[in-house]
Amino acid sequence: MRLLETDIRIDAAPQTVWSILDDIDRYPEWNETVPQIEGRTTVDGTLRILLVQPETPDLPLEPTILRIVGARELRWISYTPDPTLLSGEHIFILEPTDDGGCHLRHNEIFRGSLVDTMWPGISINGKAAYERMNRALKARAEAARDVPVAIHPSVDRGVVPHRPAVDGSTLRCLCPTDRVEVRIAAAVSHNHLCGCSKCWKPAGSLFAQTAVVPKDALEIAARADKLQVVDAAQAIRRHACTGCGAHLFGRVDDPDHHFYGVDFVHPELADQPPPAPRFAAFVSSIVETGTPASHMQSVRTRLRTLGLEPYDVFSPELMDVIAYHKVKMARSTERTGAA
Ligand SMILES: [Zn+2]
Ligand SMILES: [Zn+2]
Repeated sequence: MRLLETDIRIDAAPQTVWSILDDIDRYPEWNETVPQIEGRTTVDGTLRILLVQPETPDLPLEPTILRIVGARELRWISYTPDPTLLSGEHIFILEPTDDGGCHLRHNEIFRGSLVDTMWPGISINGKAAYERMNRALKARAEAARDVPVAIHPSVDRGVVPHRPAVDGSTLRCLCPTDRVEVRIAAAVSHNHLCGCSKCWKPAGSLFAQTAVVPKDALEIAARADKLQVVDAAQAIRRHACTGCGAHLFGRVDDPDHHFYGVDFVHPELADQPPPAPRFAAFVSSIVETGTPASHMQSVRTRLRTLGLEPYDVFSPELMDVIAYHKVKMARSTERTGAA
């Protein structure tokens, strides 16, 4: 057995590096050592790769994935047709460092009767190829860590100063004429950004801006005929203008739902400036709608710079409210059952 060892220090979060390593469709964009790769990176899955090393014929391989620990470890193994001759267990290990970066260990364990004969070539050319891949991975990860991101027009120019919520405002859709109008006779609360795939987002923004108002305070004031529910299967029924597509409000019809009684609105449609957004919800969801996972470190850093703590559901405050709502509903079911 022989162990080929390489390593590199990367100034990007392990998840940023991982998301590049795991996104094999984009290897041709940066990886000269493995410029061709097909398959699926799931444990027991098979890949078809082309390994390119200096001074060595290009080597097609069909490794099997042995181990995946998200953001920490990827391991695959390939054999020559006669597995007793040569096998290579290729190992990527990402170790988080205290400063938010990581240390990549990129190794390969070679076994079989041919290893000693081949070792002089592997130890020079294999090592050079892996070190080239490490440098390219580092460059790509460190660039992904700092990509500019458009969060939402309400915050893209910087931190929004604190301002008190105004009682009463009118929301208007974006049609040039015949606008849908919704009046709100209350202040908006819990103003936040939302990355979910259902909330209405301005063009080019990664996030929606969303707040809530008591439903008894909301009234459709003009062109109710232009409103249509976007997706009736959702618990929050979002009412959108059929002319411009803007969502005017989202309402929960189920009296048992934790958000029954409040309507969701997009404060940028209001004629009054809303209080500053306070957090970002469903941040990881933007990956599902197309943001590269490798850009998430940039997104989260930018949100924190804007004073918007990134959460992957709602804020802890709202999650505690939702959790207790479940307890409340269970108690009420028990009482009804016992009666
Ligand atoms: Zn409209
Ligand atoms: Zn949302």
